[in-house]
Amino acid sequence: MARSVLVTGGNRGIGLAVARAFQAQGDAVAVTHRGSGAPEGLLGVECDVTDPDQVARAFGEVEAVQGPVDVLVSNAGITDDRLMLRMTDPQFLRVLDTNLGGAFRTSRKAAAAMLRKRQGRVVFISSVAGLRGSEGQANYAASKAGLVGLARSLARELGSRGITVNVVAPGLVETDMTAKLPEARRAQMIGDVPLGRIADPAEIASAVVWLASPGASYVTGAVIPVDGGLGMGH
Ligand code: NDP
Repeated sequence: MARSVLVTGGNRGIGLAVARAFQAQGDAVAVTHRGSGAPEGLLGVECDVTDPDQVARAFGEVEAVQGPVDVLVSNAGITDDRLMLRMTDPQFLRVLDTNLGGAFRTSRKAAAAMLRKRQGRVVFISSVAGLRGSEGQANYAASKAGLVGLARSLARELGSRGITVNVVAPGLVETDMTAKLPEARRAQMIGDVPLGRIADPAEIASAVVWLASPGASYVTGAVIPVDGGLGMGH
């Protein structure tokens, strides 16, 4: 039976690959966007994940069209890099509010309906940076590490109601986010990847789809690295 899937930031990049992968299995898929509209064939809901009212409205719109969310993929995220001594408070907090606060707001909303149905899947898109740390990304790495604590707390709170909460931690993935990296930094990062290349967004999507599949019914509170070996040992 088709499930109701919501992917935040599913209008492009990794989120879009995730949305397309669920759609290919026959699920009903909605994506959030911030004014760009949704790619062909996906239900678009306008939503900035830092605004609780927009989150509530987006869930209402999704529910009206495709039913309560069965699978939430919290993927929306930003970077705003600077070495820590030069990083401003707003710069630190804005990244936290989007990457971690957004996951909190959307999963809190999704969990309410999942609890009523006594089933549901939540997947957070973290990053290898959250596990290893990353120079110039104290805000981003802290937000991505925070997702692990958030997911594991929710996994404990919601597990007895048939809801799983897991984390996917990608390495370097070919999207707009990595396109803006200086060429030397990008080459250096690829050089550190045992598989020796950057990932295609579809390679992240397949792990997300698996976590939402019946085959992953006994997996919760897990952090699945999809990073070409970049974070091995962490
Ligand atoms: P992109 O920059 O390509 O896309 C980011 C997405 O997040 C866009 O859809 C954007 O929407 C959305 N977004 C940003 N801020 C908000 C907000 N306040 N409210 C709602 N949506 C928002 O990034 P990627 O596809 O590369 O990254 C997706 C996720 O994967 C992120 O969480 C990122 O941290 C993580 N990740 C990425 C890696 C990579 O190498 N690319 C590696 C590890 C993790 P809009 O179009 O409106 O701007």
